[in-house]
Amino acid sequence: MPELPEVEVLRRSLEPRLLGRRIERVQVLSPALREPLDRRALGRLAGRRVTRLRRRAKYLLIDVEGDSTLIIHLGMSGRLTVVPHAAPVERHEHVAFHLAGRGGKGRLRLVDPRRFGLAFALPTGRLATDRHFAHLGIEPLGDELTSRYFKQAARGRRGPIKSFLMDAKIVVGVGNIYASEAMWQARVHPRRSVARVSMATWQRLRDAVRGVLGQAIEQGGTTLNDFTDGEGNAGYFQVSLAAYGREGEPCARCGRSLRRLVQGGRSTYYCPGCQR
Ligand SMILES: [Zn+2]
Repeated sequence: MPELPEVEVLRRSLEPRLLGRRIERVQVLSPALREPLDRRALGRLAGRRVTRLRRRAKYLLIDVEGDSTLIIHLGMSGRLTVVPHAAPVERHEHVAFHLAGRGGKGRLRLVDPRRFGLAFALPTGRLATDRHFAHLGIEPLGDELTSRYFKQAARGRRGPIKSFLMDAKIVVGVGNIYASEAMWQARVHPRRSVARVSMATWQRLRDAVRGVLGQAIEQGGTTLNDFTDGEGNAGYFQVSLAAYGREGEPCARCGRSLRRLVQGGRSTYYCPGCQR
């Protein structure tokens, strides 16, 4: 499943291929993904030039002229690629945006076998209040994420640090694997109550969250071709992980055997020696 780093790498890789190009025609090939595909709203993107590519949580936002935005979510299995004009329509190709301009004709297509993805269009100014975005917490890589922010968000809360880090109403994009890794890096036990986290530890957690996501983005950049070659390669990238999936292996910091525990139905890997 694509996580925030994959979407950020996708944004960076698509940016040079899309900026300044015009959407000539929009082709909706299926009635619905996770939600119905709104033919009329998507069709209104035709004739407009792409002005900016942004990301919010795991949504890719493609701004076009006339204050409209195309929003794509990859769901579980989505792939968004730019392919040559003549590329045959692929099975599970649900929406295609035919492009003109620099680089000749081509098309931006969303292929999604499991159909948990989304594609919709909105006036750009309405994004913040739209139901897909209104409840989202802050971005993990922006300046808003500080130790002070974490501390304030934790005020009056109980429960383990892991569920706090993974709560998208607080901060978006910290999935199960990244939460596990960040806690290992910050030397915080996954069951530690958020009520018992010091300011210094919040700072370590904040740095660790940004570190693991940033590292995944960097590593993902090196496997960019897999991700966008349009050859049917799923291409979701593997990152090197210090704790996740390494039950029984020695901790790289203290040598104790890493353990696994299950929280909220998801596995957490941690070191009993150096995570407190
Ligand atoms: Zn350790």
